[in-house]
Amino acid sequence: MANDVQQLRDLARAYWSGKPVACPKHPGVIMTGSFAQTTFADHIVLTCPRGKESITIPQRPRQMEFHRQQVEGFLENIERGDANLCYRCQSELEVESSENPTTGLAEYTFTCVRCLSYGTWNGQTAELAAID
Ligand SMILES: [Zn+2]
Ligand SMILES: [Zn+2]
Repeated sequence: MANDVQQLRDLARAYWSGKPVACPKHPGVIMTGSFAQTTFADHIVLTCPRGKESITIPQRPRQMEFHRQQVEGFLENIERGDANLCYRCQSELEVESSENPTTGLAEYTFTCVRCLSYGTWNGQTAELAAID
């Protein structure tokens, strides 16, 4: 079950990618979204036409996907036992790990608890990953 950070990450990701953002409470209902820039706190507001509820997602800094090299750096930190912080805003990162049912390899997803930037590592070695 996705937690709040993961849910907000996926909502922000859908919003920035221009895809329809489905309401987490009302399956199949598409929320309307807008981005507000304010002096202190840029944010996305998503509003559900069915329940009229709205979700505010802080976006300063704005969400982005971490580069592959950055994600590999996170993994190296885990191996060394070092803490991982978001490259964008220096906040804590949440780590999800799961096994890919197709490849049998571990997958890691890193999500910043503050700006909701994210990155996924899908079990390829650094050498393989370097070939783009
Ligand atoms: Zn709703
Ligand atoms: Zn961040």
